[in-house]
Amino acid sequence: MTEQPPGLAPATVVVTVGRPARRPGAPVNPPIELSSTYAAYPALEPDGVATNLGYGRASNATWEAFEEAVGALEGGRALCFASGMAAISAALAVLPADGPLVAPRTPYNTSGALIAEVEAAGREVRRVDVEDTPAVVAALDGARALWLESPTNPLMQVADLPVIIREAVARRVAVVCDNTFATPLLQQPLALGADIVVHSATKYLSGHSDLLMGVTVTRPVGPDAVPDPWYAALLAHRTRHGAIAGPFEAWLALRGIRTLHVRHERACANAADLARRLATHPEVTRVRYPGWGAMLAIEVPGSAQDAERVAAACRVWLGATSLGGVESLIERRRRYPGESELVPETLLRLSVGIEDVEDLWRDLDQALRVTRYPA
Ligand SMILES: *Cc1c(COP(=O)(O)O)cnc(C)c1O
Repeated sequence: MTEQPPGLAPATVVVTVGRPARRPGAPVNPPIELSSTYAAYPALEPDGVATNLGYGRASNATWEAFEEAVGALEGGRALCFASGMAAISAALAVLPADGPLVAPRTPYNTSGALIAEVEAAGREVRRVDVEDTPAVVAALDGARALWLESPTNPLMQVADLPVIIREAVARRVAVVCDNTFATPLLQQPLALGADIVVHSATKYLSGHSDLLMGVTVTRPVGPDAVPDPWYAALLAHRTRHGAIAGPFEAWLALRGIRTLHVRHERACANAADLARRLATHPEVTRVRYPGWGAMLAIEVPGSAQDAERVAAACRVWLGATSLGGVESLIERRRRYPGESELVPETLLRLSVGIEDVEDLWRDLDQALRVTRYPA
């Protein structure tokens, strides 16, 4: 892969990283390497041990191109997985298990289910309100690991990452941060001292709602030759449990990353504009928006059914789960039985896309008014 000059801005990194080395005739994009196995002979080393690629469950050149790009953005070394949950499972599995795990009270619902599974298996889990920094810090005493998500999905709670991570590091508590909502463009937990960053690459990183993938990113502890324990543990987990991404998905995700910066910039600008207008909308009782990012949640008056009617009345916004794609999505989270009861019944989560903001506003505005003025 290409060597990058140092100090490039993220808008440049997303375009330049993870491309084949520049040689006459080299392709601009990495090929989609479709191979389950790799030739082992002649051996590269005189002692006969093959050091080249071995098997498609362990490594793949297309994954590596994608991993190089995500690693450059997060400031670490990335490993891709079959889905966000596969990456999250691996991260949870490699954390020290001989002591309490501190976790958000309302994380992404499937992460919450997985944490509950770990708890049912005998692990102490201390659930905290991530916005209550003193409570989070108090829970770190005697803990072994901290699971963070900020902003949280879908309550949009923001954790004070610099303070919380600093306090965790001081207590030798291992820190994982789900950075899916913020993206590495807005927040880089590894630089704050986190041990592992996880992403659902299904969302902003790939950005087109056309694949599922996950990624872990860890901070190298020394020069390349020094083994990085988190990286090694995650790689071993991926190879043993086999939750690997398809090469085609990795290629598509890398293609998506090329436009991450411009997509996200537009989506964030649209979200800021909509959040401002929604704050005074007569049919909105609460706007949850951290002041940045492209995700927001609103609460509407009335019942769950009224909120469902708003989502159903949208014609530009698509009523669907997931987030982080170019298209704007709206959904009532409590329609899923797995969603936390702490999430209000009338909360609508908005994943703001890159469409024209006036079209988004007009559509949302007419949809919000359907319950009061039914057709
Ligand atoms: C979607 C999501 C996940 C799960 O990712 P998948 O790719 O669907 O497995 C994890 N965390 C957050 C914050 C998410 O939004």
